[in-house]
Amino acid sequence: MTYQTVNPYTNELIKTYPDATDEDLEDALATGHALYKRWRKEDGASERAGQLRRVADIFRQEKDALAANLTKDMGKLITEARAEVELCANIAQYFADKAEDLLKPTPLDNPAGKAYYVKQATGVLVMVEPWNFPYYQIMRVFAPNFILGNPMILKHASNVPASAIAFEDAVLRAGAPEGSLTNLFINYDQVDKAIADKRVAGVALTGSERGGASVAKSAGMHLKKSSMELGGNDAFIILDDADWNLLRKVAPGARLMNAGQVCCASKRFIVMADKYDDFVSMMVESFSKLVMGDPSNPETTMAPMCTTHARDGLQKQLNQAVAAGAKVAYGNKPVDSPGAFLMPTILTDITKDNPAYDQEMFGPVATIYKVNSEDEAIELANDSSYGLGGTVFSQDIEHADELARRIETGMTFINGGWVTMPELPFGGIKNSGYGRELYSLGFDTFANEHLIFDH
Ligand code: NDP
Repeated sequence: MTYQTVNPYTNELIKTYPDATDEDLEDALATGHALYKRWRKEDGASERAGQLRRVADIFRQEKDALAANLTKDMGKLITEARAEVELCANIAQYFADKAEDLLKPTPLDNPAGKAYYVKQATGVLVMVEPWNFPYYQIMRVFAPNFILGNPMILKHASNVPASAIAFEDAVLRAGAPEGSLTNLFINYDQVDKAIADKRVAGVALTGSERGGASVAKSAGMHLKKSSMELGGNDAFIILDDADWNLLRKVAPGARLMNAGQVCCASKRFIVMADKYDDFVSMMVESFSKLVMGDPSNPETTMAPMCTTHARDGLQKQLNQAVAAGAKVAYGNKPVDSPGAFLMPTILTDITKDNPAYDQEMFGPVATIYKVNSEDEAIELANDSSYGLGGTVFSQDIEHADELARRIETGMTFINGGWVTMPELPFGGIKNSGYGRELYSLGFDTFANEHLIFDH
């Protein structure tokens, strides 16, 4: 395992980082466990809320420098990188402000005595995170669990080490004690070793199905709690009465933000037959206006993908889709650049036997399907191994709401693409994983709901 920063725009190696040793892992476990014990005794949640507020301040005050790290590590457009940093500040602020409420004991009505439960920490957590939102993915787990009093060990994706270090550094500079969040450049075996350790209470992973299945197996074997935020192949259903002015503004971005590398991006656009040609033309027009280039230049509208390896993998999926009969409405041409660029691409005519039908395309590739009825649209949306998010576009909000409830996912958006904020729970069903992050549900994942019963 090599942790490296390679600039995706130039493909130039910037820095290689030394791997963590087993001794480093043992030190982190010992420090984390000692901190857990101390926090259990001291009940210092309000002190931690203050420290988390300072984390939010650091993210706000150092927005530009923190954002530049993201662009260097994984090629995110600088404008999107700044928005990610702001979102992280909001998540930290939310859990700091909610701390008292979330930790309040809940009284339990019963016929026999005084009873209540209180949410308490469970121990050190392992966090395995992906490269697509290098800070946000950490913050979703870190903020609630820091308030709760679960110390964390972070294994970040091997291509975003600078972002991992910057996050840990912000937490320590905010005054959080050593061990609150320890970043380690560990390998998969060391992740398994940590999960097996009796000082570890659980593991949160965001990433691929393959990584998720492996880590969940390890957690299951050792009876540890786990939460899995995995991939998606979200449907975006456009009904006949959709508002096209809004659709034009929303649909391309719902697919292309973060160079299309978003688990809950709209990946399958499902359109009624009589509006299908218009929709394809609208998307082609919009994709053709994108400007590929340096992600640190605010004028650029299409960033490179995170690595040339990821780009090559997606190109292979595209080749297979086309060989199996998909038509290219736009894109799928080589890009003359050393960077990890994939030309934004639109595929149509994907039949059920095409491998692309039930595959996640994790990059700037939209697929468009034609249907003849709303029932057919819902059936197609649900005919997926994934169940993360989805969209219904219609001016009849009540009807859109009814259809949204028929979609088998963890999140459905009406008249807009995906959105994430601290107040909304995030997560999926089926192969998109289990558990929720953010909102109070994200606080509960690794909590012990401790019953106290007074006879
Ligand atoms: P991976 O699963 O390969 O990587 C994610 C993280 O898991 C990385 O830190 C990786 O480490 C680690 N990892 C992978 N396998 C193991 C293992 N067996 N044991 C321990 N750690 C492991 O995902 P990708 O990099 O391919 O990321 C993209 C995928 O993640 C997409 O499918 C996407 O949909 C999904 N995703 C889901 C999100 C969600 O919130 N639901 C959000 C973002 C992405 P290393 O880098 O060292 O290989």
